[in-house]
Amino acid sequence: MGTMTAAKDALTFFSPEEYARKKEKILSSYDPAIEMNVGGSLFCRVCKQPTVYDDPSRLFIARCVCRCRLEEERRAKQAQERSERAKRFREAAEKMNVLGRAYAGAGFYSISLSGAEDSYIRAVERCEKFCNNFDAVRKSGHGIWLWGDTGVGKTFIGACMLRLLEKDGRMCIFTSAEKILDEVRATYKSATETAKEIKEILVNAEVLFIDRIDETRGKTESAVQTIAEIVRSRDDDRRPTVILSRVSMADYAAQSGMDRGILDRLSARMASMKLVGKNRFLSMPGEMEF
Ligand SMILES: [Zn+2]
Repeated sequence: MGTMTAAKDALTFFSPEEYARKKEKILSSYDPAIEMNVGGSLFCRVCKQPTVYDDPSRLFIARCVCRCRLEEERRAKQAQERSERAKRFREAAEKMNVLGRAYAGAGFYSISLSGAEDSYIRAVERCEKFCNNFDAVRKSGHGIWLWGDTGVGKTFIGACMLRLLEKDGRMCIFTSAEKILDEVRATYKSATETAKEIKEILVNAEVLFIDRIDETRGKTESAVQTIAEIVRSRDDDRRPTVILSRVSMADYAAQSGMDRGILDRLSARMASMKLVGKNRFLSMPGEMEF
């Protein structure tokens, strides 16, 4: 009967010669350091699972992966995904970055605190501690609202924090409120990038620095909402945010019309530090390069 023949043919994969040749090849070319030949079949030395799938009745033989090999492949795939994510993150962080080259060498060591007010010294110390104790900070998710007049050194302190955290391999973004809004607006015309992607990157950064939160052109309701949404999502995930502002949290909320609920939540979860005095970074490197 034709059907019987067809079924029988479907059950055998190789010709007997092919099958024998493949088996011979497999059994003569394995690494005895990782596999062993037991009764004409190969097994992993570690997990003892077969590394050859051999079905003589169907004349089929092929290499297969054991449990450790599978795990190894899974880990390699994860590492690959991680490195791709890290690369995408670095590109996005680079694009969002608003710190000029002048801040490249910023470090707490370069802050001269002689003659500074106690509250100033205390604020700088706490900012440095935030970075040095970041494992604990990450668990609490507590952020910082650093505020004070223009020229008091907020951005420089933020840059010092960024450098210190980056030195420890933390994935940070240092951006400004205006830059966030510009990038989000740009996606409305973009075919390849969505606002959601930008927000995701900002929400997922280990530490997000938002400089000049109180300085956005055209404070529309949606602009304030965009920033608030990012900060709130980060807070939901317990990811610390560092905000640099000329005004206090309460004044910002009042000026921007930020939701009272968000303000209350931020007040509870961010350390507010006011900087008073003059800029302590007169010897800031690289300021006048020609
Ligand atoms: Zn194995």
